[in-house]
Amino acid sequence: MSTRIYQFCPYCGTRLEERLAFQQMRPVCPTCGFIHFLDPKVAVIGLVTWQGRVLLIRRDVDPMKGKWALPGGYMDAGEMPQEALARELREEVGLDLAIGDLLAIFPMAGPGVFNRGIVLAYGAVAQGDEPPILVCDDDACEAAWLSADEIPQDLAFESTHTLLAQWRDAHRRES
Ligand SMILES: [Zn+2]
Repeated sequence: MSTRIYQFCPYCGTRLEERLAFQQMRPVCPTCGFIHFLDPKVAVIGLVTWQGRVLLIRRDVDPMKGKWALPGGYMDAGEMPQEALARELREEVGLDLAIGDLLAIFPMAGPGVFNRGIVLAYGAVAQGDEPPILVCDDDACEAAWLSADEIPQDLAFESTHTLLAQWRDAHRRES
């Protein structure tokens, strides 16, 4: 796969060339020396539970549009992962939660070089006697607290499958 994302140097506008730099072929600017390092994308996802139910959202964007996934999103520069997940939960479903421990790290293997990176999965537990109300910003968004038996088949990612399977096993042992 080509590592070329940009055709031109973002600093001086010269056409980039593929050159050996720091042990790899990378896009390099022959005029000013800019090297484009293909940094990994970092995403965060949450296994958010409330009294034996898990929070799933139906994706409204590609990739995997229409499939069910754990809430989350890309980290912004300057954020710590737990901050990023807390922000995503506020934005996606209107939940304000303390984020718990790191559960797992998954490879992000999306199509194209833009989606190469890692996914950090954290746990979070919602409190209260009633299921916390999920507020979706746009009409197409769906989010629900689902029991182990209600988890749909059409799940988005390998990480979603793995984390939900683990959660379901642990939940069955408890009950
Ligand atoms: Zn340049």
